[in-house]
Amino acid sequence: IASQLNRSGLLKTQGLIGGKWSDSYDGKTIQVYNPATGESIADVACMGGKETNDAIASAYDAYRSWSKTTAAERSKLLRKWYDLLMAHKEELAQLMTLEQGKPLKEAMGEVNYGAGFIEFSAEEAKRIYGDIIPAPMSDRRLFVLKQPVGVVGAITPWNFPLAMITRKVGPALACGCTVVIKPSELTPLTALAAAELAIQAGIPAGAVNVVMGNAPEIGDALLASPQVRKITFTGSTAVGKKLMAGSAETVKKVSLELGGNAPCIIFDDADIDIAVKGTLAAKYRNSGQTCVCANRILVQEGIYDKFAKALIDAVRNMKVGDGFGEDVVQGPLINEAAVKKVETLLQDATSKGAKVMLGGKRHSLGFTFYEPTVVGDVNSDMRISREEVFGPVAPLLRFKTEEDAIRIANDTNAGLGSYVFTNSIQRSWRVAEALEYGLVGINEGVISTEVAPFGGFKQSGLGREGSKYGMDEYLEIKYVCLGNM
Ligand code: ADP
Repeated sequence: IASQLNRSGLLKTQGLIGGKWSDSYDGKTIQVYNPATGESIADVACMGGKETNDAIASAYDAYRSWSKTTAAERSKLLRKWYDLLMAHKEELAQLMTLEQGKPLKEAMGEVNYGAGFIEFSAEEAKRIYGDIIPAPMSDRRLFVLKQPVGVVGAITPWNFPLAMITRKVGPALACGCTVVIKPSELTPLTALAAAELAIQAGIPAGAVNVVMGNAPEIGDALLASPQVRKITFTGSTAVGKKLMAGSAETVKKVSLELGGNAPCIIFDDADIDIAVKGTLAAKYRNSGQTCVCANRILVQEGIYDKFAKALIDAVRNMKVGDGFGEDVVQGPLINEAAVKKVETLLQDATSKGAKVMLGGKRHSLGFTFYEPTVVGDVNSDMRISREEVFGPVAPLLRFKTEEDAIRIANDTNAGLGSYVFTNSIQRSWRVAEALEYGLVGINEGVISTEVAPFGGFKQSGLGREGSKYGMDEYLEIKYVCLGNM
């Protein structure tokens, strides 16, 4: 597959600085692995501070002209990029499955979703309106202009190798910003292919740069530069906090999408088929490796046994394997550390009384494959309820009343995704309003879309991505007063 992709010209291994593909200055490389086989796929440039500073300089240079283009011009180029992403959907999906492990069908879904942010940004570029404010004095006129923030540093994780980039870069470019992207070192190939398509679309040199390698060094260079006016990050809460602190020195704008601890609340009055289907999608998608994956399944006592049985029956039918295999719905975890974390959390839970109802160990396929798992009798004191599992383990917690469910659900510093299954419209509203979460899925397990705002409450982050709200993250508001008329 890698050699096939090589022929298509989308297998890039160098960084992109000022429109030129570049090796790291000291010639160092890092290997990218296929998590399903443990095989090395490619050696990519391992860059650091020097390359990042040059990428920032290119982005700053490109910003001067890009920020002055018309919205219509930016829109056309973004639309072209979208068209190219869709035209190369299969190759992008293959690259993603190869380096990230997700089933090919899910990878194709991510290309649709990820490209959607570019399409939406192309449309929204034309709708960045200002305001005219009625003046308090008759000889004045008050205007509000919206202008791009400047050069953006975009740092992204491995779980959505395309979409986490496009949902940042799309709005940034639409608003007139230029970007230095640092994709995850675990999944740089999809990012580089997307960047190649941006060049093919005619997005000017320097508007999109990609550096990867030494993450802390690249991060520090982005933070230190007064020319970088905005940091947008998706990843762990720990790194997000560091970036926020590091942005203080130059007072950058910051958008953060950090860890979640999503509750999935199943009420007695839920439709059990819908609840099982929704939970399955919310939990096991991407092998449980998303920040909105259901982390705690809270089940009301009256439906607990019935729901647990139905969920186990459904989970038992999930086919685990290489993402390229037919009918596979669950691939490997990203790496050994991810498996170890799942093992540690499950061990802690069972030592405190939780019961494994299905799975609970490494899969016979080896490598980083893990059995789709259901574990019952979990409570809020166990680490599995307090930390992100980021793996295919569904912990079931029993609750009595609606008030209990809300209290347990909100008892966390995270506040990103949440899910509620009920057939009562009144309860849906009550619970949705009471949940301290940025996203609430009611009778739905997968709700992300480029047209709706995505983001967290509390320590799950700052700002929103996608939708008209996501554009504001890349805009400064300027007040202009025309006086003495
Ligand atoms: P995850 O658990 O999803 O890998 P991380 O927060 O470790 O979460 O990684 C998300 C992104 O942040 C990756 O691109 C990673 O390389 C990058 N990263 C990690 N540490 C730093 C750092 N100190 N400065 C800047 N970026 C970092």
